[in-house]
Amino acid sequence: MTSGSGVPGGPPGGAAASSGGAAASSGGTAGSSGGSAGVAGAAACCGASDGGCAAAALRSGSGAPRVRWLIADSVWWGGRLRSRVALRVGENGIAKPVPGELAPVAGTRRFRGTLLPGLVDAHVHAALVDLTAVRAGGIGSVWDLGGVPKDLEDLAERARQPGTDLPLVRYAGPFLIAPGGYPSDRSWAPAGSWREIRSAADAHEAVAEARSAGASLIKVTAHAGGPLLPQDTLTSLVGAAHASGLEVVVHAEGTGTVAAALDAGAGILAHTPWTERLDDDLVRACAERMRWISTLDIHGWGTPDPAREIAVDNLRRFLGYGGSVRYGTDLGNGPLPAGVNVREIRALQEAGLEPHAVLSAMTESDSSVLSVVDGGLDLDADRFADSLATARAIDGTALPNHC
Ligand SMILES: [Zn+2]
Repeated sequence: MTSGSGVPGGPPGGAAASSGGAAASSGGTAGSSGGSAGVAGAAACCGASDGGCAAAALRSGSGAPRVRWLIADSVWWGGRLRSRVALRVGENGIAKPVPGELAPVAGTRRFRGTLLPGLVDAHVHAALVDLTAVRAGGIGSVWDLGGVPKDLEDLAERARQPGTDLPLVRYAGPFLIAPGGYPSDRSWAPAGSWREIRSAADAHEAVAEARSAGASLIKVTAHAGGPLLPQDTLTSLVGAAHASGLEVVVHAEGTGTVAAALDAGAGILAHTPWTERLDDDLVRACAERMRWISTLDIHGWGTPDPAREIAVDNLRRFLGYGGSVRYGTDLGNGPLPAGVNVREIRALQEAGLEPHAVLSAMTESDSSVLSVVDGGLDLDADRFADSLATARAIDGTALPNHC
């Protein structure tokens, strides 16, 4: 959304990640570069095999939850790359790193390269992109930041099925907007993808509706180019969402909108602010109380764009004050690559994140989807983005592949 464009411009937001590490850590020795020592008991690698066979294995057996084990040359987890570490996937589907010697010799899935938590794009529009291509491009989980609730509910359910070729989908439901506000005037926003909020009581109803449709986020727009929600209504909306345990993502576009979102108590911005250079006091306040979703590559899509420079500058200062950013691309908004976006990663590096911090911004430690980089993750700053772009998503709950 270079402003005013016809595409999902002022995109919805996703959740923010942090520039620091997050995931748990346990056992294992610190490794350095990818692909070295095998883990104890690691025999011949099954390698890149993770297709239909694994899916079939997942559906076989009793169907009862069971613990799975995975092992690779190295594992990136909790902010560092380690060797001699295995992943134990519990009955709840959540993976945790453990000392490699704990993995059973039989029944452990083995991979070449580096295993890491599933890569997440925290800002997409599922109705506007081919999500199978997104998953094939290495993204294991997405946040939809504005769409038709019923469609998203169905999509998220399909994405949870064994053997799916879709990324997991977390979603916000409809854009909650001022009457006549953005994006109700945009051709890319179909009926049902936005809902007008007319009062504080209406705000509570809208949050309840979204929650009952399975939303785990609330998306609100504040676009200075059109009608804006009154500040007290925006504050009521955020309060209602938080009372329901839902995070609020604000599309803040134009003068005063970032401050309005901050003052209302919203915790996430859908985009790094790009329409103007924010003053340091506002950036510092945002860093203390908010997370930002990056979406830097929507400005120019690889060609020079003043908005990109403004956004990178705002993000660099936000990070300098300790702010937390989450990788998000606003997929569906213009010619963005499906899957891992090398340009977005490089823009994050330009804003000050080193490779480990980029990975933290792209992952969550509790995902049932994992990623693997077959050639081993390269953490050299110049080669990192291209290395990560070779990642592919795998289902961590699948049984070992015996093909
Ligand atoms: Zn968007």
